[in-house]
Amino acid sequence: MTDERSTFLLDETQIPTQWYNIVPDLPEPPPPPLHPGTHEPVGPDDLAPLFPQALIEQEMTTERWVDIPGGVLDVYRIWRPSPLVRARRLEKLLDTPAKIYFKYEGVSPAGSHKPNTAVPQAWYNHAEGVQRLTTETGAGQWGTSLAFATAQYGMDCEVWQVRSSYDQKPARRTMMEIYGATLHASPSELTEAGRGILAATPDSPGSLGIAISEAVEAAVGREDTRYALGSVLNHVLLHQTVIGEEALRQLEMAGDTPDVLVGCTGGGSNFGGLIFPFLREKLAGRMDPTIRCVEPASCPTLTRGEYRYDFGDAVGMTPLMKMHTLGHGFVPDPIHAGGLRYHGMAPLVSHVYELGLAEAESIGQVECFTAALMFARTQGIVPAPEPTHAIAAAIREAQKCKEEGVSRTILTALCGHGHLDMGAYESFLAGRMTDLDLSDETIREAMAGVPTL
Ligand SMILES: *Cc1c(COP(=O)(O)O)cnc(C)c1O
Repeated sequence: MTDERSTFLLDETQIPTQWYNIVPDLPEPPPPPLHPGTHEPVGPDDLAPLFPQALIEQEMTTERWVDIPGGVLDVYRIWRPSPLVRARRLEKLLDTPAKIYFKYEGVSPAGSHKPNTAVPQAWYNHAEGVQRLTTETGAGQWGTSLAFATAQYGMDCEVWQVRSSYDQKPARRTMMEIYGATLHASPSELTEAGRGILAATPDSPGSLGIAISEAVEAAVGREDTRYALGSVLNHVLLHQTVIGEEALRQLEMAGDTPDVLVGCTGGGSNFGGLIFPFLREKLAGRMDPTIRCVEPASCPTLTRGEYRYDFGDAVGMTPLMKMHTLGHGFVPDPIHAGGLRYHGMAPLVSHVYELGLAEAESIGQVECFTAALMFARTQGIVPAPEPTHAIAAAIREAQKCKEEGVSRTILTALCGHGHLDMGAYESFLAGRMTDLDLSDETIREAMAGVPTL
């Protein structure tokens, strides 16, 4: 055994006790969300039927630091702090002078970074007397995380799972039921939105947009119920900054400063959570990493979308958010990285990108899964389909280092493991996975439905 360290662990007492809010440190504030009817900035009252007061305050806060409640830290202790790993075996395979680090969030009970926000969302709701949370889930990661989180506080959880995923992913369904959640295939007969869709299309495979409409409808109708969202919103990204705060300390332990940060972006939460603490350091002149978003070529929100006000859901019920969007009617090709199939991008990540503080690239899924096999066969962990994009981007960068003969320190988030995503790997290994071309015409058509503001 060599004495070269590759795993950097923090003690339980070193879990961050505050979340970091990037907003006060940005050169300009992000544009506010607008009411879908009046087009005026939304106020706290507009959001009260959906979210508890504490989360609404966090959504709008300009405070730099937000204390993490003790009741949240107690649950974070189940899996946090998460490890930072230097991928020495992958570096060796690539024969690169680059150093590749990944912050591994697959150690959480749900197997991804999503419990970092599911737990505080459940806690704040519980503290304000909410008994029941509703949500939607596509790939199943978010539903699993919220089911786990609500179980910690003795709350009820109802999940509308997109019909196609409900049928194709029975293991995810069982996992949510183990945690005590109630599941509905969406569209369902339980809501007006669902009944409307089923009347028109009895065999509808569902969509994330439809499932959001159902979960929202089921929440606003009852005083004991609120709704929870797993990405995109400011408070979600705020909660995820525990990833970056820990990684900052761990890289320091390793004696390195990052030159390149890469992360996969679906709604932007694992990316924001990793990079915002580093962006603070960059803006303060203490380091100068290149920050890069990686998205699927089949859902290229930042690289091919427009920076516009658009709805968060498919039917146009949610506030309008200024973000990079492909149009709320955009239906991505059925690629395997379910968590990256969202038409928009977190307004905060969009704003940071627009300010020129981050760059973006898109990568096709064949390159991503090729990278995932290299990673699994060296580092052992089978990545979730979403972070295969981050790994592919890290490998691109490491290969560039080799060509240029320079060493750079690359940091990424391995935001989940892929143990329940064997279907995607099976299709890749069988040679059935292909890269799909997304035409400009498809994007133009979806963008035509975006309101002009
Ligand atoms: C949900 C999910 C994503 C996409 O969401 P972000 O908000 O962009 O992080 C990515 N990876 C995994 C493992 C997920 O579960």
